[in-house]
Amino acid sequence: MFNIDFSNFEIWFFVTIFFILRYILVAGIFFFVFYIWKKKKWQFFKLHPKSPSKVQIKREILYSMLTFFIYSTGIWVFLYWIKHEMTMQYMHIDTYGSFYFVLSICIMFILHDTYFYWTHRLMHHPKIFKVVHRVHHTFENTTPWTSFAFHPFEAIISIGIIPIIIFIIPYHQVALIIFATGLTLNNIIIHLGYALPDIMSSNRFRNTAVEHDLHHNGISRNYGLYFNFWDKLMGTFQRG
Ligand SMILES: [Zn+2]
Ligand SMILES: [Zn+2]
Repeated sequence: MFNIDFSNFEIWFFVTIFFILRYILVAGIFFFVFYIWKKKKWQFFKLHPKSPSKVQIKREILYSMLTFFIYSTGIWVFLYWIKHEMTMQYMHIDTYGSFYFVLSICIMFILHDTYFYWTHRLMHHPKIFKVVHRVHHTFENTTPWTSFAFHPFEAIISIGIIPIIIFIIPYHQVALIIFATGLTLNNIIIHLGYALPDIMSSNRFRNTAVEHDLHHNGISRNYGLYFNFWDKLMGTFQRG
């Protein structure tokens, strides 16, 4: 996949289109199910009684588009590094075996959770917050469309996890794709705006929409992304 010799602009263009379509498809399915089709059925679990306004959703989508332009520009650079064998990519799963393949995906999530927790806390420094992170916090009644609605500076910081992964751990490209898919789903679920019952939100180690909603609504806690290990360790955890 990464060996296809596209010209630079084509790579950038196709990656941008891929990010946009994936966002519209996945966020769109969640939005359709929870905000249109089964709205009444799920009403009890809605975290904010009011429906999000059209203006809010438009802003979320616009900021997300900006994020994807930045992400695809980043990927363009990363693909250059990968193509020139500057990263830790390996081509055959057998090289390290299937156990390592699964382990490498777990390591990616743990690394990302750590990276996210600490960069997120940094972005809450009052001076940095105003410029970098306030945009994301303007969405208090979050929706699936909020999942990538960042200020461009925050988008740049958030994609910083990819070079960390590809230069630190041996990875297979399929593992990286599984990680990116999990990341997208997690972002959408924690911004869903609904406290999903049991299986989806009562896990003791997982960050949930309820805890992330508290964070969006001005509580200086729950900085984590996938898990709450760091929040518990650093005393910033608040159960929703
Ligand atoms: Zn925040
Ligand atoms: Zn958020």
